[in-house]
Amino acid sequence: MRGFILTAALVAAVPDAVRAEPAERDRFDTVVLDPGHGGEDEGARGLGGVLEKDLVLDVTRRLAARLRARKLNVVMTRIDDRTVPLEARTSLANDARGDLFVSIHANAHRSKQPRGIETFFASLEATDEEARKLADLENSAFGEAPPAARGDPLVALLGDLIATEHLVESQHFARLAQTELAGTAGTSRGVKQAPFVVLMGVQMPASLVEIGFISNPQDARSLGKDSRRNALADALARAVIEYGRRYDAKRGIETPRGGEAGGGR
Ligand SMILES: [Zn+2]
Repeated sequence: MRGFILTAALVAAVPDAVRAEPAERDRFDTVVLDPGHGGEDEGARGLGGVLEKDLVLDVTRRLAARLRARKLNVVMTRIDDRTVPLEARTSLANDARGDLFVSIHANAHRSKQPRGIETFFASLEATDEEARKLADLENSAFGEAPPAARGDPLVALLGDLIATEHLVESQHFARLAQTELAGTAGTSRGVKQAPFVVLMGVQMPASLVEIGFISNPQDARSLGKDSRRNALADALARAVIEYGRRYDAKRGIETPRGGEAGGGR
């Protein structure tokens, strides 16, 4: 009996978006972009005093412009330098019923050696110790312990269910993004997984990109240039467009992007 009650309570608590049948979903049209940090939360501080929050907002704006030019609906969790709590970011994304969530961050390390780009999807298990530490660091920006870490078993279980629901698609986008980013020169550190809270709170496929190490001299110098920021935005836009094309194709929808939006179904 206890088992039944728990199951019924769980089903009642699972948001509708999680239970929706794939066939009922629309064309891929809404992307939520999440520039990390902002306002009082500066994120990492890099060489030459560059702040993660400023760098990632700039790259996210460039990406947003490219996606809008492809007629996609883009929602940003912040459009300027302000503090946005975790709950506000995830509820904004969920209210927008995004088809994809992309969080953009920059990395920093105590040593100047590490450099390169890595893309994450959420998982309770981290790829390695380094990935776990990075997730701890990014999660700590939100001040208090995330719901999954507060010891509420139902919340933790739901977070896990939601993450699992979109695990395959999240991983799929992460691979596309990392492949495109790796083609922009610089160093590819691969696709990894770690328990990023912001990814686990959204009810859609989600990925977090670390666009480089602002603690590394080469990465920091390159990230300071317009050309590098544009190349990163171009690469991420290609990954999003390709992900959307495959998303629609799986649902039997053709995606004539770039011109007329098409007749839909
Ligand atoms: Zn960050």
